[in-house]
Amino acid sequence: MILRRVTKLLPSVAISVLFFFCARDTFAQAVLFQDVRVFDGLNVLPSTSVLVEGERITKIGHGITPPPGAEIIDGTGKTLLPGLIDAHAHVFGVALEDAIEAGVTTVLDMFTDPNMAAAVRKQQEDGKMLDRADLYSAGILVTAPGGHGTEYGFPIPTLSDPDSAQSFVDARLTEGSDYIKIVYDNGHIWGLNLPTLNKAELKAVIDAAHKRDRLAVIHIGSLEEARDAIEAGADGLMHAPADIAGDAAFAKFVREHHAFVCPTLSVILSATGGSNASMISDTNISAYASPFAIKNFQRSFPTHPGETANFAAAQATTKALQLAHVPILAGTDAPNPGTAFGVGLHRELELLVGAGLTPPHALAAATGNAADAFHLHDRGHICAGCRADLLLVSGDPTTDIKATRNILAVWKRGHKLDRTAYLAKIAQEHENTLKASAPAPTQPKE
Ligand SMILES: [Zn+2]
Repeated sequence: MILRRVTKLLPSVAISVLFFFCARDTFAQAVLFQDVRVFDGLNVLPSTSVLVEGERITKIGHGITPPPGAEIIDGTGKTLLPGLIDAHAHVFGVALEDAIEAGVTTVLDMFTDPNMAAAVRKQQEDGKMLDRADLYSAGILVTAPGGHGTEYGFPIPTLSDPDSAQSFVDARLTEGSDYIKIVYDNGHIWGLNLPTLNKAELKAVIDAAHKRDRLAVIHIGSLEEARDAIEAGADGLMHAPADIAGDAAFAKFVREHHAFVCPTLSVILSATGGSNASMISDTNISAYASPFAIKNFQRSFPTHPGETANFAAAQATTKALQLAHVPILAGTDAPNPGTAFGVGLHRELELLVGAGLTPPHALAAATGNAADAFHLHDRGHICAGCRADLLLVSGDPTTDIKATRNILAVWKRGHKLDRTAYLAKIAQEHENTLKASAPAPTQPKE
């Protein structure tokens, strides 16, 4: 795993050093995090120092001499992490703003309006977006006529024969999709009966994505669908199978196919009768959670007769996959009921630990694993040459996962985020919501 990472990072280090020298004058002052605990995206460094110059991390280690004018942050009792990555969301509205305030500096969208995504990507490439998370997007997903993804009230193109797979995928890439998201889910585990791609179509779409050097990630529901998707060549699964627990043999099968899995436990919990409402009583979360997020944490999905999905199966599968060294990715599936942009990722981390991952494994799911799986070589790790997308928290999330919520500051490309303005905006939104829900003053009777 470490070998793989080093190989992948080499080109980005070279590029970043070049970039750093080009960009240093236009960026914020240098920052030295002194004697801080570091989670580097894979491992824990109990105490070290990290220097940020321009938009990159330039040095890690003891005895770093800060450049003149550098801000020095005493790291005692604090932990520095790479900015978090939400590997499954559906981006719209203020999603990317909400995300970064919770320390999520990159969001991997799994189905949204491609025009909106392209506009955001343009700003991102122009070097804007310092107050919003970066976006990578699947654009429009690939599904069968009437299949999952077609129920949201706006028309989308659908796929109904394997021969049109390449042109379908190419149309998505022309629209700007970074990777291809495919729905392979007949709805049975949710008590539904939905059209879905057949195996030949599934394989044809995956092959078509690979032909263009793009990842193909598959939304699945059942264990059988998960097996089919892996067999067809999927790079990753979106959702842990939730009907039957995947055992060690299943996990070995996934590992042997070099696939990753984004279990999305928080949305499976809220879809199987559980709740993520505990988030709203956490004061570290509630102050930064919009009225929409607060409301959404309390929502859950309707259940249907004949449903076999259960949270215990998803948890057990996640644990088995981790034991088999399958890369696990943290994803919220926000804004589905029970989830939220940004703050919701901290719930997903808690649930990954609840499923049996160690806190460092859960943190890797939201940093190094996600970056490596999606070939985002410049982020997800704290390394010399990596982007300075950083999250500083008080306490030790490598032993207590909930400490990721004690956010002290967030940096994107070396710029410290102004969280006070956001806090005021959220407070105002809550006040407006309260006013709107207050009973109208009673009119005196005439
Ligand atoms: Zn989703």
